[in-house]
Amino acid sequence: MTTYSHSRVSIYDNCPYQYKLRYIDKKKPEISTTIEAFMGDMVHQSLEDLYKRKKFQQRIAKASLIKFFRNLWAKNYSSDILIVKEDQGLTENNYRKMGEKFLLDYFERMKPFEEFTILGLETQDRMTLPDGNQWHVRIDKLGCDNDGNYFVCDYKTNARMKDQEEADQDRQLAMYSIWVKDKFKDAKSVKLVWHMLAFDKDAISERTDEQLEKLQNEIVEKIKEIENAKEFPTNVTALCNYCGFKSECPSFKHQAELEKIESVEEFKEDEGVKLVDEFAETKKNLSELNKKEDELKEKLIVYAKQFGIDIVYGSNMKTSVKEIEKVVLPEDKKELINFLKENGMWDEISMINFMGFQSRILKGQLDEVKDKVEIVKDFRLSLSKRKDTGDE
Ligand code: SF4
Repeated sequence: MTTYSHSRVSIYDNCPYQYKLRYIDKKKPEISTTIEAFMGDMVHQSLEDLYKRKKFQQRIAKASLIKFFRNLWAKNYSSDILIVKEDQGLTENNYRKMGEKFLLDYFERMKPFEEFTILGLETQDRMTLPDGNQWHVRIDKLGCDNDGNYFVCDYKTNARMKDQEEADQDRQLAMYSIWVKDKFKDAKSVKLVWHMLAFDKDAISERTDEQLEKLQNEIVEKIKEIENAKEFPTNVTALCNYCGFKSECPSFKHQAELEKIESVEEFKEDEGVKLVDEFAETKKNLSELNKKEDELKEKLIVYAKQFGIDIVYGSNMKTSVKEIEKVVLPEDKKELINFLKENGMWDEISMINFMGFQSRILKGQLDEVKDKVEIVKDFRLSLSKRKDTGDE
C-alpha cells in the first residue's frame, strides 16, 4: 500500500510525466527548491514558532517574529534556489521582504493569537483510505473552540486570492476534515480556513458528510487511475518554469542541452536547431506560396472573364478557368439534416465527423466501438515561437 498526498495527486493531475520521474523512477529534482516555496516554508516555520511561544507563555512581539524569520532565512538560503522571475528584476530580497510583510500583516490581524485553542501545529499523520492506501495529513494549524467547532488552517503565500468557489472545491483541506471528524468525535463542525497572507484575508469553507464521502471516493478513483496508468505524457504549462526535472523532460531536454552551448556558431550547428529552422522556413514559404496561389487564381479569373475565354495559355502549361456551381450549407444545419433523415437520404450522403469520433474514442467515451477500429501511433508536429526569444 502506498501513501498518497494532496501534492502527489496534484503533480499527477498537472503533469503525469513529472509524477513518473518523481514517484516511479524516484529521480531527484535538479533544483533544491523555488524561491516561492522557500519563502512559504520560512513563513510557515516562523508562524509555527510564534504559536509555540504563545503556548509556553513566552513573550510575543512583532520584532522578534521578524528577527526569527530573518535569521531562519539567512541560515537556510542558498544560491541554488530557483528565482523564476529573476528576468523581471525580482531578487531574493524582494521575496524576503514579501515574507516579512505577510508576517507583519498576519500579526496585526490575529494578535493576541487566541482565535481558538491550538490542538496542533504542522500536524503530521496518515489516514487509511477505503482502498487500503494511506493519505498523508499535514495541517499547518489545527484548533477548536468550546462549541465543538474545529478549524483546519492553512497558510498560503500565493500571489492569487482563493475565491469562494475554489475554496469550496479544494480537496486538500477537505480531506483533512475527514481525518478531524474521525479523530475528534465531539466535532460539531470542521471549518477549513486558508490564511491568504498576501491579501491579509481568509477564505473559509465547510463540507457536508455527503460531500466528504463523494470526495473520498473521487480520490480513490484517482488513485486507481494513477496505479493503472501505462502512459505518463508531459503537460507543458506555465508551471514548467517551476519544475525541477526540465533537463530530463522530453519537452525541455533539447532546450537544456542548447543552454550549455556557449557560441552562436556551435548553436547554429546543432542538428535539431537546423531542422527546426529549415522546417519553420519551409512552412513560411508554403504559406506565402499559398497566398500567392490564391492571388494568381483571382487574377486568372479576372483575365479569363475580361477576354471571354476559359483556357489561358502559358509557355509550357495552360490553365483551365471553368465556372462551376457549388453548394453552401446553411449555418444551422439541423433542419436540413432532419429533412435528409426523414426522407431516407441521410445514410447515403452523411459522413463521420472524424475529428469528433477520434477524440471521443481516445478519451474513452466510445469504448463500445473501440475494437471496431485500429489505434496506431502517429506524430503531430506543430511550430510555435520559443518564449525565451522575447518575441511573444
Ligand atoms: S517540465 Fe513541464 S512537462 Fe516537463 S516534466 Fe516538468 S512539468 Fe512536466
